[in-house]
Amino acid sequence: ALVTRFGPSPTGFVHIGGIYVATIDQDLARRTGGRYLVRIEDTDQSREVEGALEQFGRAFDYFGLSADEDVDRGGDYGPYAQSARERIYLTYVRELLRQGRAYLDFATKDELSDITKRQQAQKVAPGYYGRWSLWRNATAEQVQAKLDAGEPYVVRFRAPDDTGRRTRFTDAIRGEIEAEANRNDVVVLKSSEQSPRLPTYHFAHAVDDHLMRVNLVIRGDEWISSVPVHQQLFEALGFEPITYAHIAPLMKQEGSSKRKLSKRKDPEAGVDFYIEAGYPAAAVLYYLRGLANGRLAELPLEQALAEPIQLANCGVAGPLVDLVKLDALSADHIATLSGQEILDAMLVWAERFDQDLRKVLDAEPELALRGLAVERDGVDNPRKDLRKWSDFRAAYGFFFPQLHEAVTGVDDERITALGVPADVVRALVRDFVDGYQHVEDGQEWFNQIRELAAKHGFARNAKEYKKDPENFPGSIREASQIIRIAITGSTRSPDLHAITQAIGQEETLRRLAPLTA
Ligand code: GLU
Repeated sequence: ALVTRFGPSPTGFVHIGGIYVATIDQDLARRTGGRYLVRIEDTDQSREVEGALEQFGRAFDYFGLSADEDVDRGGDYGPYAQSARERIYLTYVRELLRQGRAYLDFATKDELSDITKRQQAQKVAPGYYGRWSLWRNATAEQVQAKLDAGEPYVVRFRAPDDTGRRTRFTDAIRGEIEAEANRNDVVVLKSSEQSPRLPTYHFAHAVDDHLMRVNLVIRGDEWISSVPVHQQLFEALGFEPITYAHIAPLMKQEGSSKRKLSKRKDPEAGVDFYIEAGYPAAAVLYYLRGLANGRLAELPLEQALAEPIQLANCGVAGPLVDLVKLDALSADHIATLSGQEILDAMLVWAERFDQDLRKVLDAEPELALRGLAVERDGVDNPRKDLRKWSDFRAAYGFFFPQLHEAVTGVDDERITALGVPADVVRALVRDFVDGYQHVEDGQEWFNQIRELAAKHGFARNAKEYKKDPENFPGSIREASQIIRIAITGSTRSPDLHAITQAIGQEETLRRLAPLTA
């Protein structure tokens, strides 16, 4: 059974890469009958943002990534926020100090930057190690004097004197890795001036993951170079070594090269992008799982969501996030939903992001269902113009009188663009309205347009019209487009007859009226 954890820092930005990693955490724990926990990593209080935890919780709920153990749910291995674990860290720091595996360091900022400068000048590796450390070999008296003077300090790990030694570890994705052993006296406890006294990432990782009985650490591959430090910390603390899986970051195509999805440059790096646009969570998860398993869209959604994520399938190179692909997958997914399922999801989305739309849907649920049924229910080739909930207005808005943008008259730009003389438009639509039959049969309905088009001198087809454009006001195509634009506001729409059946006779005629005046 795998115990995995996700460690978000509450910085006010939830990266889609976090959803990606947490999906993997959750999947592996579930499938092995283990536990998946979320631990808030709030040891960098300068980076903390008001409301960040709520924002994080909402995003994780949206994607169904709630943990088995976390701050809200609790669990036997808490507290689940690092800021509440001060006493635990201090206990282990004291133990390291007692064993001489750590020491107090009073080096000032100036002293540290001076060391860096001298290392640069001498062309030696940067860092706080060996002979460069000012406090590694300090006497008890020197330390006491500083303490008595109330000088601030950090606690540093006393790295083994391993200069030049190599170390090995196994990564569940990358396999055997050999690296230089660590020799840096990394900080384990931050400045004594801070309250609470907080650990560095390195130390918190070792203590928390051990105490929380985590047995597989899945994290971003920017940490892979820290493993040698972590190995030494685990050893010094007397902890069993832990297994790592370092995940390559989500990438973005830029010209001919790839780069990491950037919080600053790419809106799609943030989860809010997906939530606000209204991508169904299932579609995003489907996409991310496809990226993890390296087999995008090979399986239908239901199957893909049920398929285990295998670390062996996670690439060493980061997968590309391609919104065009996501759109297509999401549209495919939405096409499998019933009208009622879509309406339910629309209501939830619109409640947060489009109150006006929410009101319209609340007022007209039946119309919404009739609209959604047009070229959807029971057809082999359903509409794919709904990729996310924010597409609804453009794709289905015209069904609703409140959202439909009516033509203003024969001089409406959408109508004049067709190039049919205004008096012909007016005469055609008047005739259509006068004799209008709101029939259920589509053929019969379209025949009304066909006959009237012929009567008003429109060519029977584009070819005939092209041959002699002077002789016709347009072809049958322009004639039907006049009706289509009046009814849907646009030159492109699903089946026009089906639309009139959905909105009803009265509304159909109301929309045509401005063209008769
Ligand atoms: N809080 C760390 C980060 O945001 C978590 C890394 C880890 O999972 O160990 O990078």
